[in-house]
Amino acid sequence: MQHFDVAIIGGGPAGLTAAMALSRSLRRVVVLDSARPPRNAFAEEMHGIVGLDGVSPGEYRRRAWDDLKKYGMAELHEVTGTDVTPDPEVGFTVTAEDGPPMWARRVLLTAGMVDVHPEIEGFGACWGKTVIRCPFCLGWENRDRTWGVVTGDPEFAATAVAGFSAWSDDVIVLTDGATPAGEWGGEVVEGKIRRLHHIGGDLRAVELADGTVIDRQTLLWQLDQRPVPLIAHLAERLGLATDEDGYVEVDDSFHTSVPGVYAAGDLVTEAQAAVESAAGGSGAAFQIIADTGRP
Ligand SMILES: Cc1cc2nc3c(=O)[nH]c(=O)nc-3n(C[C@H](O)[C@H](O)[C@H](O)COP(=O)(O)OP(=O)(O)OC[C@H]3O[C@@H](n4cnc5c(N)ncnc54)[C@H](O)[C@@H]3O)c2cc1C
Repeated sequence: MQHFDVAIIGGGPAGLTAAMALSRSLRRVVVLDSARPPRNAFAEEMHGIVGLDGVSPGEYRRRAWDDLKKYGMAELHEVTGTDVTPDPEVGFTVTAEDGPPMWARRVLLTAGMVDVHPEIEGFGACWGKTVIRCPFCLGWENRDRTWGVVTGDPEFAATAVAGFSAWSDDVIVLTDGATPAGEWGGEVVEGKIRRLHHIGGDLRAVELADGTVIDRQTLLWQLDQRPVPLIAHLAERLGLATDEDGYVEVDDSFHTSVPGVYAAGDLVTEAQAAVESAAGGSGAAFQIIADTGRP
């Protein structure tokens, strides 16, 4: 069985940044990354990472592996991790869908979250272009357009109006059938969304279930998320603590409730961005190094 200091499950910004910090700390690392496209695969470009602004998600990963290869400490296995079993030798056996099991002293979970896409005609074509989750990622590209914030949460609606005026002076709230967004000082449109009118992903209007059509060019939509199957499995089998929405619970030092298992990136927080995940991956790597001493 191959032995590693750290098995990282998930090869996005969190896992790759952790692999870099661990490689440079002389740790032998394996990164398991499934073929499932990453969350941001819908976006053509990544923004907000200074020095890499505008690279595609695929190019970001290619460049990361070019950097990692220089150190010769990290291996990429393009497989889906299926289980993590604590081992009596003070470590873990990590299994994957394909290939033999591996042994690692520590495990870092960086498998991200899954966005639950609504079944609305036109949504898929617009997601990551003109239907966006985060204004810091795609607000610039959608500046000076008419915006709709899809939410039933009055507090978020109020924040949206104040905060998103940086990018648009025409922001309304669409409740998508949720409880009315309440008093927040702006226009609220109630009703379930049935269809997005667009041309090649460029949103033109939102159609409600009652047939009303509202001109909008950009929607900000914070979709529900669910954990990847591995996390749900580990929560059940190892007692990995997650909160009610499925995010992995960690302390300030990225330790999960399972000794020797760490977690970072999107799967521990709703405050999500590539740069935040990278910072989390780096922090988790430093903690693993601090906890394990010289290899
Ligand atoms: C449309 C869109 C556009 C975005 N644009 C930006 C932007 O411009 N700038 C920005 O900062 N942020 C952006 N984000 C947010 C950013 O993409 C995420 O916050 C970031 O990718 C999270 O990094 P991560 O490493 O935590 O998880 P991810 O990037 O999701 O990586 C997790 C990886 O783990 C893999 N995985 C899952 N389960 C397993 C398993 N069992 N075994 C092995 N591998 C597994 C997945 O396939 C994936 O490759 C965007 C998000 C979306 C949805």
